[in-house]
Amino acid sequence: MMNQSEITFVFDSSSENESLARTVIAAFIARLDPTLEEMADVKTAVSEAVTNAIIHGYEGGEGKITIHSRLEGNTVWIEIIDKGVGISDITKAMEPLYTTKPEMERSGMGFAFMEAFMDELEVVSEPGNGTTVKMKKNIYSALNMS
Ligand code: ATP
Ligand code: MG
Repeated sequence: MMNQSEITFVFDSSSENESLARTVIAAFIARLDPTLEEMADVKTAVSEAVTNAIIHGYEGGEGKITIHSRLEGNTVWIEIIDKGVGISDITKAMEPLYTTKPEMERSGMGFAFMEAFMDELEVVSEPGNGTTVKMKKNIYSALNMS
């Protein structure tokens, strides 16, 4: 039977909690023995998604962010869920350099980084109903151990 494990945690939307979320996920996936690069990739992707939930989803205001993560064999799945404003045109939002907050000096590269650093990225969103970012990555150093 394949090794399986999951965690779910909920935290307040605030920039202080961004590093917390990144650290929890890093600790969770450590058991897969990721390389430093794999670890950095996952942490960056989580940071980008959480930052988006905070500044776009809740627009700097109050809200709860849920992270659900699952390990199965050498694969990690991560879902970052907010119940904020949502995204009307997901395809457009995911285009590199597209941002709705240029005045905040956002560069519009968050989704592009998530896509580059993870093996799969899916965004589910509806205006007024929040956004769920689903990501998957295979950790190859774990494969080498088995
Ligand atoms: P950067 O990430 O480079 O600082 P950015 O956040 O604008 O800039 P992306 O992360 O690629 O760029 O996101 C693109 C756009 O998608 C955002 O400008 C925003 O309009 C929308 N978006 C992303 N995440 C969310 C979210 N959780 N809720 C609502 N809108 C979002
Ligand atoms: Mg972003």
